[in-house]
Amino acid sequence: MRLNNFIDGAWQEAGGTDYAPVLNPANGEELAQVRLSTKEDVDTAVAAAKAAQRQWALVPAPKRADYLYEIGHLMKERKEHLSRVLTKEMGKVIEEARGEVQEGIDMAYYMAGEGRRLFGETVPSELQNKFAMSVRAPIGVVGLITPWNFPVAIATWKSFPALVAGNTFVWKPATETPMMAYEMALIFKEAGLPAGVANIVFGTGAEVGTAMIEHPDVRVISFTGSTETGRRVAELGGHHLKKVSLEMGGKNAVIVMDDANLELAVEGILWSAFGTAGQRCTACSRVIVHKDVKEDLEHKLLASMEGLTIGDGLDESVKIGPVINRQALEKITRYIAIGQEEGAKLLAGGKVATVGNLAKGHYMEPTLFTDVKWDSRLAQEEIFGPVISLIEVEDLDEAIEVNNSVRYGLSSSIFSQDINTIFRAQRDLDTGIVYVNAGTTGAEIHLPFGGTKGTGNGHRDSGVAALDVFTEWKSIYVDFSGKLQRAQIDTD
Ligand code: NAD
Repeated sequence: MRLNNFIDGAWQEAGGTDYAPVLNPANGEELAQVRLSTKEDVDTAVAAAKAAQRQWALVPAPKRADYLYEIGHLMKERKEHLSRVLTKEMGKVIEEARGEVQEGIDMAYYMAGEGRRLFGETVPSELQNKFAMSVRAPIGVVGLITPWNFPVAIATWKSFPALVAGNTFVWKPATETPMMAYEMALIFKEAGLPAGVANIVFGTGAEVGTAMIEHPDVRVISFTGSTETGRRVAELGGHHLKKVSLEMGGKNAVIVMDDANLELAVEGILWSAFGTAGQRCTACSRVIVHKDVKEDLEHKLLASMEGLTIGDGLDESVKIGPVINRQALEKITRYIAIGQEEGAKLLAGGKVATVGNLAKGHYMEPTLFTDVKWDSRLAQEEIFGPVISLIEVEDLDEAIEVNNSVRYGLSSSIFSQDINTIFRAQRDLDTGIVYVNAGTTGAEIHLPFGGTKGTGNGHRDSGVAALDVFTEWKSIYVDFSGKLQRAQIDTD
């Protein structure tokens, strides 16, 4: 199967000569090939998006929303098919894939509802017979750049608010996961979106991503990916005076206090550390544990980890699927060696899993380190694999300090039964998302999603906050006094 770009409502072959294979990380099987696009393909897609945008912006927002309802409906009808493609292409276990597709469906309906809101403000004027209000205006053509770990959900977080607000888009999915984008293109077409409103260009970040950022007609770049790439996107975007929204890496922690329900904490930790094989931006990578319950927690974690089956995510009994590719496996293995060199104690896992059929894919054993120093590389850098680092602390103050010591600021969590501890923690943890008595993952689509420090640059995906990325505020003053009234000067 060869995947072509989706431009101006039609399939268009990319101009590049190279193909990239799409490989199932569970077994190495080739699922498809994408032909890599060039700058000229980006030019064609942006021209189509620009030509369609003026008309799209004139469609009343509730009518634009009707397309989103239809897209949500089609996604719902195809939920099982989409989930299976997602698992094959990306590796996450089927239960999580269904959850990710559901997130996209939820976002379609939620943003469709925004078609009848898109609230601005009406405020009193300081002058008589004058009316003042603000409205959200579409920006134009927006560029969406997405990672492979949530190939459909993140695309919906960006494209649906962009559409309902009256923008058209060019989307570059990750080269590892073009099949979900292809499936979404089929849905956009079937939902009857006017040609040019939604465009998908397959290709590398270096070629296609750069061309999108540099294109004078692309007004916004909404990027999700690693902090290293995000920095490059911001630098180039800054040079071209683009509005750039960045959602980047994480080094998220669960804090377990001495009064925590440890059974619940173990469940929360395992789900958020090993779900998606640790490849979520919100994955729990550190466990900051009160010294009085450290040993107990270690035993309970080890006991629960024994029951985790590794394998192909299409098998419903599997809990940990493969990581995305060989390079990811090598990176995780490097961090395990770094941890050992730094003096952390390896309690479980630490090896590439190669038993039987696992040798055909890219599997990592769930791994638990303890006695990890808070400032070691193991505890500070994003690993993006199923690896937990346990860090012991004396009290809540130290726990918060350790949580906040990393350069990232996406998600944090605290397990405690004490209301004072919980409220101090939610105030003082410096991440964009805080969970109480739950792991570090599980965001719902109607609240802002994103992080502080090295995770973001102040924008948010999801929730109404996403509309801030894809709209300009326009303030409108209507003077019906029939005379010149000067604000701040005329007083009556
Ligand atoms: P990545 O940075 O390698 O790639 C992300 C996207 O950027 C891909 O589409 C890629 O092709 C593109 N890209 C690469 N170089 C580019 C360039 N020079 N210019 C423009 N685009 C370029 O990230 P990844 O490996 O695909 O994803 C994993 C990372 O994403 C992790 O760091 C993870 O924490 C992060 N992530 C963050 C969030 C969040 O919301 N904060 C969500 C999911 C993933």
